[in-house]
Amino acid sequence: MSALVPTGSHPVTLFDSSPTYQMACRQLDEVAKAINLDPGIAQRLMVPKRSQVVAVPIRLDSGQVRTFIGYRVQHSLTSGASKGGLRYAPSVDLGEVAALAMWMGWKCGIMKLPFSGAKGGIACDPSLLSIGEKERLTRRFTEEVLNIIGPRIDVMAPDMGTDEQTMAWIYDTYSMKVGYACPEIVTGKPVELGGCVGRKEATGRGVVYCIREALEELRLRAVESTAVVQGFGNVGSVTCEELYQLGVKVIAIGDRYSAIRNPHGIDIPALVKYTSDPKNPLKSLKGFPGADEIAPDELLGIPCTILVPAALERVITGENARKLNCRILAEGANGPTTPDADAILADSDIYVIPDILCNAGGVTVSYFEWVQDLQQFMWSEEQVNAQLKKLMLGAFHRVRDRAKERGMTNRLSALSLGVEKVATEKAKRGLYP
Ligand code: NAD
Repeated sequence: MSALVPTGSHPVTLFDSSPTYQMACRQLDEVAKAINLDPGIAQRLMVPKRSQVVAVPIRLDSGQVRTFIGYRVQHSLTSGASKGGLRYAPSVDLGEVAALAMWMGWKCGIMKLPFSGAKGGIACDPSLLSIGEKERLTRRFTEEVLNIIGPRIDVMAPDMGTDEQTMAWIYDTYSMKVGYACPEIVTGKPVELGGCVGRKEATGRGVVYCIREALEELRLRAVESTAVVQGFGNVGSVTCEELYQLGVKVIAIGDRYSAIRNPHGIDIPALVKYTSDPKNPLKSLKGFPGADEIAPDELLGIPCTILVPAALERVITGENARKLNCRILAEGANGPTTPDADAILADSDIYVIPDILCNAGGVTVSYFEWVQDLQQFMWSEEQVNAQLKKLMLGAFHRVRDRAKERGMTNRLSALSLGVEKVATEKAKRGLYP
């Protein structure tokens, strides 16, 4: 059973057995205590508004039929259309998706975006599916959740295991159903289809805007800093590229298949080329000639200035948090640090840039994309990047200011800002009927 709100009981839900959902509830519980949240509203915020579980049968290339399980969870519908990624990974389950939807709600809150939080996923291993199988899976999933999505209802975007192409298939399937081209049904789609320039890079760029502010506050110089990054997908690779451009030496990187290290700094453009080679369809780091292979469990403890988890949730735990050897922990992934680890980090000198702030660049540019598609008026990359920077820095300083004023950790400050925005909207709208 997950943590309880301060007064009143937490209703028993289908999500309770998930450690990721328990983690999200524990965080909300801490925020509720810290800001003295109305218990009735705290309870409403703890339980997702709407969840849909769907069977997604597809014909595999072999001719066999296989059924996958898909999920879409809308944490709330209070703050505008719900917004959040679609994840393809073997670990996806209802509780994980519910937790990610809740975090999306807080993230949109900190960034002051007119969205509620949502998330979706299909339990599958996309590396084992052909392109045709992925297309059939995506189109059938879209059909199955059609009753709860829409440009003013719920808008999907890429997440782990999905990309621009996945969004293009959702856009096409939805448009075929409604009978007109409707690019505003998804964000993170190809630019040629109404995608926003700079959306693909936005999350990694936002991570690095935050890192720059933290380095400045700590009076550290980028060119004298080192970084270790877990994950070399969308978020991890762009973060590495941006850090490399700043002169930060990226000395180790890990992915699902291996981890590599070069104390002199990894040649990031060469690694991007290596992982984008069609002969490397898994985009694996394995065998990259410019670095040595290391045991993946060594990665997070390597001494460095900046550690960036940019892959999975719950990788920094009560067991390994004391082994971290970094000055800044910049959370590119969602939920990489458990509350037990947080308690340990709060007593250390590690400067945490919490996930819901650090990786908010993605949803911020998704918001720009949605606005452009609704207005059918597209922005230049300069406009997108300037607005992204402005919104990220604004949120960064709101989080830091509250943390300093109230003596809170950055995580509690960020979460409380996000929760407060949604809670205020709920309170002002009142309870129907
Ligand atoms: P991605 O699928 O593009 O890349 C995931 C990376 O993680 C890959 O390099 C993969 O090999 C690696 N990985 C998978 N399992 C691993 C394991 N067991 N150990 C180490 N590495 C492993 O996904 P992404 O879009 O870059 O998302 C990464 C994280 O960032 C997720 O937590 C996601 O929710 C979060 N996020 C993504 C966005 C976005 O815009 N894509 C926005 C905000 C947050």
